[in-house]
Amino acid sequence: MPPNAIAPDGETRTSRVVGSIDFIRPKLPYSSTNGEDMDESKLLTTVTGVRCSMPYTIKCSTASFTSPDYANVRIEQIASTIFDETESKLSNFNPQSEVNVVNAMGIDDVHTMSEALKDVVLCSKELVKFTRGAFDPCVAPLLKHYETMAERSSSDLVARHGTTTHSTSHNGHHASAHLSSITELPESMDEVPGEVDIETIRRQRHVVDFWRSLVSAGFAGDPSDARVSRTVKRLLEVSQWHSAFSVVANGSDDNEDRETNNGGMVTYAIRKKHNDAHMDLSGIAKGWAVDKIAEALPSPCWVEWGGDIKVRGKHPSGRSWVVAVPEPPKLSEMRVRLARAKKAGQVGPVYTLADEHIRDEEHNVGKGKEKDYLAVLELRDGEAVATSGDYEKVIERNGKLYSHVVNPQLGRLLELNQTSLAQAVVVTKSCMVSDALATAGISKGDPSLARAMLDQFRTGYKTPVRDYILYARQGPRIIRLSIPGIESKSDRERRLQRHQPATVIVVGGGLAGMSAAIEAADARAKVILLEKESETGGNSAKATSGINGWGTDTQAEQGVADEERLFERDTFRSGLGGRTDHCLVRTLSTKSSDAIHWLKHRHGIPLTVLSQLGGHSAKRTHRAPAVNGRPVPIGWKITSTMRDTICNEYEGKIDIRCGMNVTKLLHNVDANGVKTVTGVEVNGSETIVADAVVLATGGFGCCQRKDGLMSRFRPDLLGTPTTNGQFAQGDGVILGEEVGAELVDMDKVQLHPTGFLDPNDPSNPTKFLAPEAIRGSGGVLVNSEGKRFVNELDLRSIVTAGIQKYCSPYKSADGYEGPPFAYCILSQEAQQIFGKPVLSFYKDKLGLLEDCEDISSVAELIGCKKDVLVATLQEYEESARLGTCKLTGKDVFPSPLTPTSTSLVVARVTPSIHYTMGGLNINSVGEVQEKIESIIGSHRHIRGLFAAGEVTGGVHGGNRLAGNSLLECVVFGRMAGERAATVKHADKEMFPNAKHHAQESESNFIPVLLREVRNTDEKYGMNTREIRFDMHGAFQNSGMDVGQFIALRGQLDGETLMGYFSPITRPSDEGVIGILARSDSKGGPIAQLLEIARPGSTFYMCAMGGLRLKFEKENIIYNNRVVKRIGLLAGGTGIAPMIQIIREYGHYVKSHPHPEQIPPFQLNLIYAAEEMHDLAYMKILDTVRNQIPHHFRYYVKLNRPPLGWSEGVGFVERRDIIKYLVHPSKEENPLVVICGPPVFEAAMRKNLLRLGFEHSQYYSYSEGDNVAAHL
Ligand SMILES: Cc1cc2nc3c(=O)[nH]c(=O)nc-3n(C[C@H](O)[C@H](O)[C@H](O)COP(=O)(O)OP(=O)(O)OC[C@H]3O[C@@H](n4cnc5c(N)ncnc54)[C@H](O)[C@@H]3O)c2cc1C
Repeated sequence: MPPNAIAPDGETRTSRVVGSIDFIRPKLPYSSTNGEDMDESKLLTTVTGVRCSMPYTIKCSTASFTSPDYANVRIEQIASTIFDETESKLSNFNPQSEVNVVNAMGIDDVHTMSEALKDVVLCSKELVKFTRGAFDPCVAPLLKHYETMAERSSSDLVARHGTTTHSTSHNGHHASAHLSSITELPESMDEVPGEVDIETIRRQRHVVDFWRSLVSAGFAGDPSDARVSRTVKRLLEVSQWHSAFSVVANGSDDNEDRETNNGGMVTYAIRKKHNDAHMDLSGIAKGWAVDKIAEALPSPCWVEWGGDIKVRGKHPSGRSWVVAVPEPPKLSEMRVRLARAKKAGQVGPVYTLADEHIRDEEHNVGKGKEKDYLAVLELRDGEAVATSGDYEKVIERNGKLYSHVVNPQLGRLLELNQTSLAQAVVVTKSCMVSDALATAGISKGDPSLARAMLDQFRTGYKTPVRDYILYARQGPRIIRLSIPGIESKSDRERRLQRHQPATVIVVGGGLAGMSAAIEAADARAKVILLEKESETGGNSAKATSGINGWGTDTQAEQGVADEERLFERDTFRSGLGGRTDHCLVRTLSTKSSDAIHWLKHRHGIPLTVLSQLGGHSAKRTHRAPAVNGRPVPIGWKITSTMRDTICNEYEGKIDIRCGMNVTKLLHNVDANGVKTVTGVEVNGSETIVADAVVLATGGFGCCQRKDGLMSRFRPDLLGTPTTNGQFAQGDGVILGEEVGAELVDMDKVQLHPTGFLDPNDPSNPTKFLAPEAIRGSGGVLVNSEGKRFVNELDLRSIVTAGIQKYCSPYKSADGYEGPPFAYCILSQEAQQIFGKPVLSFYKDKLGLLEDCEDISSVAELIGCKKDVLVATLQEYEESARLGTCKLTGKDVFPSPLTPTSTSLVVARVTPSIHYTMGGLNINSVGEVQEKIESIIGSHRHIRGLFAAGEVTGGVHGGNRLAGNSLLECVVFGRMAGERAATVKHADKEMFPNAKHHAQESESNFIPVLLREVRNTDEKYGMNTREIRFDMHGAFQNSGMDVGQFIALRGQLDGETLMGYFSPITRPSDEGVIGILARSDSKGGPIAQLLEIARPGSTFYMCAMGGLRLKFEKENIIYNNRVVKRIGLLAGGTGIAPMIQIIREYGHYVKSHPHPEQIPPFQLNLIYAAEEMHDLAYMKILDTVRNQIPHHFRYYVKLNRPPLGWSEGVGFVERRDIIKYLVHPSKEENPLVVICGPPVFEAAMRKNLLRLGFEHSQYYSYSEGDNVAAHL
């Protein structure tokens, strides 16, 4: 072993997961944090042994026990109790085990399960469902059948190595004593008629006879052989969980989910649904045992049994526990071993390779062979890893090798080959789940399918996948878990070296402003943060409910399943009626877990408490736990911590200046009307110049001025109370508007339904917010008649509308009449959930809630009839019992409230202006947009002006989803800050050499981040997407000519994919390069990658060749000559490069100083396609034609036209070129551009030559660069 290596943390037989030899941290002997050398043998007590023929290794910190001797004894005790239980309850190799008792039952027999069996069966059942059958503990009959056939067909049927099930038992599925009779059946085979269903067959004969018939068909026969498919399908029915067994909870089938609802004890039983059904729990039971042992031992510990590993805590030396994953054996190696073993008469056709592989590995240790490790995994506290490999048990038939894994779709064994998945390694927090998912992964066969399945388990399951490694031999292909949209640390570091340090002014010291400042400083900017108040914090500091994020480690730790599509759906649903820009929401969603991670791990904010607020379909609103029983106001915690971080870590980098009211944006406008912001004016006098300005001034919820924004956009709300601070005047909106920024959704103002109405000060316009938790904990709203009127947990907008419609205005004794209000009643249980310390703050300190002994005193306080209130609460109690309220649709009842409840508290609540959804229009990187008149596209960014947070619009639409605002501040604050920091770029052009010698070489590929993907089906045609990538510098342009195309490279499933695209953006467009791409199969594999990619995903881009057309002020230049007419000949997907030319031409015409001198129809297009639905981007063509009707026209030819078609039919002919495109005349100085499939281009070139065009008068993409441009 190398001198500086660490010892293996463990070694297993099957899965070959061993402590890394290469992983050099720390050196041996271990060093403690104070530098003292440590001897591992003293730190750890290691116990090894063999149970159920599988070796185990358990390591525990010796310090956890009173003495080393006792440690040994205690570990042995704990482990053997659990091993005994595993053998007696779950082992298929013990004929008396509980699982075998179940297997031996007759049809419809029911067995009440032990706790152990229940755990494993319920987990298996759930994973059958979630993996859609890719994992199934009931495939044993099918597997046994294949083994039997292999044995029967083997000419030299020798007693194979490990004929007893014990010695063949590993990670995969197993045969059992129950099925052993099959191997003894006579050779004669019956033919099974294909049409007869399985039940008929079962009735007619023993199903084993039926299996025998399959032997004649061969177990991996021709898939087109219907007879085989039908018979295998029938056999599969016996071998699938849902037709084999069912779980019976409290006497009724498959209703075990009720447990969570009534909280009572449930007895679980299992019913056998088919005589021949057989459950094999070996793999997953092994995981169960490992989990149990690890849980029973003191932390830190390492438990490994038969390839499954679970750890707790850290290795006592302070490092993480480490496992290394070795490379599976090559197919050639396996054949050699098999032949060797056969020659020695050791094995039959079913062969367990794992043992030998392991022996070889052991032999290799220390001889440099450890480099065969695929990867090294660090396991965090509580994580578990399991591996499934195709090499564990191999079945040979007709010279082919098959894995022991059954393909669930076909019901066949997976044939071992170079391209299919050879090994799946899965890390979760449960060994049981890891084991099942590794098996499910390998059974998928195809690495991409396995990746797609496991990715869903990353956030969509209560025991999420934390890491995985998928391996296929060819390549080899190694797929690691990667989270779309997350840039690697090294990529980011490299990227951030690509600009000069800039000076960035951030206006506003709330969460958006501080996030922007920190991110800009991290991107090497010098930052000045200007805050008009005497303190930073803004409304952000008032937030109490928390911040949203899905797929976070907090959710994973608490077993909360959540998904992108749910989060996005919730955001869109809440925002109905306003503008929720799809790209902004996708960015918010993709970056949400990273935002939480940043706050937690970069700033140390413990976002470990989760709640499910109204309108959310999962627990995803994060906040900090109470400290010493006192709640931590989350907004204050975040903003004060960040302020501390800035003061402590960013001295000289971020300069916070309070009392600085920004009153104007300094800017200039060039001859083309392009605006650039150059700094700010402060307090009406002082000016500060900068390279970029980020507006983060918050909303206008407190703007009641007659000339203010509320009065302009929502005059009806003047006089409505607010939860906002008085600084929330919408300054940033006005500053942006003054330089031309577009405003969106300005009339969308969110009223929070529950501002506390203080009976001692009812007319005060500023209300304390009654947090979401007041309803979330079970607070019930009633009106002054004592009647409920709304689902308290519905969206804020709906609850607000309910109060406004069904409640009376507040009237005080002195004649004051205020807005409508409701009473919120909290039972003792609700008070408990809400939190007594918070309640006491609002009740005892601020006097905003009142105590009521019972319902009578509540009725008295409200001034309603007691009978009515009692009837209301009776109905509520009944609804809670039924789980749904007929009146309001409420279906979650966090705590009870009944007519007999006592010790209640009651608050008066009134809708208050809380949040302004509208504001400055930004794009997904926070660049402020202005509206422009343009050929295509109606917006451009105001140079040097960025914005984030409540000052912007377009994220929340008509109504913000609770918790999305703090998230927006972090996500877009960081984006805007980083983007603002990049405005000073060393290279004005992204591809400085593109015009001269662009080529596809490694050094010419530049990293770009995916900015956004717009579905353009409606705009440009079916299956089209507009995809935009960020150039690194916000002021950079591509440096390419019109007509040049790019190569785009990315990684998917361990493979590098490449596509060629023509940009749709113009060469002069700054900061962005956009392409149009097909999203269907015609877009090739890169289309699939683009579909999976998310904002922030890294791609590599290289400028390629192409047409190189220059649009000068009054001339169009090609190859140093002025072109008078241009004809475009596009075939099928060859339309893509034409779009950029057409778009650029539109700009050329519009900005031409003498448009009357431009020849009519200077640009013509013939677009040939096979059929109607192949036509893409027609709307762009129409738009341009409508904009410049005298200069551009197009003609479409379809080979297979639909009924009613009135344009060109058939292929493009010479007369079409003359009539619709251009003449070959010298005076016209024409240029014809051809792009399409190679045959199309060749035919068109021929046509042109025959028409008398010279070679210099046309450009053909396939000829030009030898690479066809693709969509
Ligand atoms: C009571 C309350 C509770 C809330 N609870 C939640 C919650 O739980 N979860 C959630 O997601 N959202 C919540 N919100 C909403 C959320 O807190 C805010 O919308 C969000 O934090 C706004 O952040 P911001 O950085 O955009 O603006 P702010 O935090 O308001 O900061 C803007 C800052 O800019 C300063 N400023 C304004 N104009 C100028 C100028 N001209 N020059 C210099 N400085 C200027 C202001 O003084 C202020 O400090 C809550 C809001 C309120 C009022």
